[in-house]
Amino acid sequence: MKPHVNRCWAQIDLAALERNLRRIRATLPAHMRYVAVVKADAYGHGLHHAAARMMHSGADLFAVANVAEAAQLRELGPGWPILVLSPLLLEEDPLLAELDLAATISSAQEIARFDAVGRAAGRRLKVHLKIDTGMGRLGVWHTDAHALYAQITAAPHLELAGIYTHFASPDEDAAFTAEQRHCFLDALSRCEALGLRLDQSLFIHADNSAGLGTLPEGGRPFNAVRIGLLQFGIQPAPHALLTQVHTEPVFSFHTRIGLVKELPAGTTISYGRTHRLARDTRVAILCAGYGDGIPRALSNRGQVLVGGHRCPILGRVTMDQTILDVSALPAVACGDEAVLIGTQPTPNTAQPSSEPAATSPAPLAQIDIGEFSRWADTIPWEILCSITKRVPRLYQ
Ligand code: PLP
Repeated sequence: MKPHVNRCWAQIDLAALERNLRRIRATLPAHMRYVAVVKADAYGHGLHHAAARMMHSGADLFAVANVAEAAQLRELGPGWPILVLSPLLLEEDPLLAELDLAATISSAQEIARFDAVGRAAGRRLKVHLKIDTGMGRLGVWHTDAHALYAQITAAPHLELAGIYTHFASPDEDAAFTAEQRHCFLDALSRCEALGLRLDQSLFIHADNSAGLGTLPEGGRPFNAVRIGLLQFGIQPAPHALLTQVHTEPVFSFHTRIGLVKELPAGTTISYGRTHRLARDTRVAILCAGYGDGIPRALSNRGQVLVGGHRCPILGRVTMDQTILDVSALPAVACGDEAVLIGTQPTPNTAQPSSEPAATSPAPLAQIDIGEFSRWADTIPWEILCSITKRVPRLYQ
């Protein structure tokens, strides 16, 4: 029998996702197209639900990490344009034609391989040329990009559908980002000398969420952005050099209290006995641990919202449970909801009054994913990818 009670869950607000995407689009020049990055199960939000909503909200192209993700997306949208960002393994090549995917090209070998797939399929395969301008990861080095451009345009079974690069530090280093942009534009000029036309017939893209803040006025020759994190309502970094586009969180992370008990001063808490109670303490045991995606690094460090209060995590986070100090709460019971990432109404501290009930909602206590990830010495991207399969995603 399948239990119907959720012990730990992620709430996904698809309406907020749609609003975010539309708001980001609205800040961009009209000619700019929107590449929705939905790799890693749409950053843990659930590929099918998220991508369906994004298609409906005006995404022009989806970017996934690999062909396995592309295959999942293809099931959902038979005609949707899909770009695979990572290199393919040889055995995966035929899937480009079978699933009608656009591949990323970083090397002459890939041109030969994908052209052969196109030949076998009897048609031209779409490809995006990736240029390495300083990320040191995928792409052809920028000074050699024009040579690959020439090879792609000469390949009878390939169609150049895009050219792109990826920034290494757009949230931290404006000067290096400008340098990367400059190298990219230089490479494009060399391709133009070989016949490239910088028009809407191909996607020219570089900017991810943080890059947006450094997009030159008007955008051109860029005509597409490649957005992941920001569409989920998360700023890439607190100090990001970002546009002030207002977005709302899409994801929140919840669990419930399984047990409440009183422990005497001096008791040590959890594995390794890394916390000793300084006073008699009421503790609550959460129904979630690192087996659900609460990083172990939050041991003795993180906080969780219960009843609108921030309750400190005591001792080590364990696989299935996390222990909180709930002494500050007036009342707490088995079954109460706890919010790991998200908001909760603060306790009502208003004085009784003869006035009709106030219409303004209670202020919210909040733990955002930025704060949560800093406790774990990591980044929001990694937190989203670490919420495990045990955690159902509930959509609203
Ligand atoms: N483009 C590429 C090649 C990426 O690897 C990523 C994310 O890792 C993105 C775009 C989206 O970046 P962000 O989530 O910062 O918007």
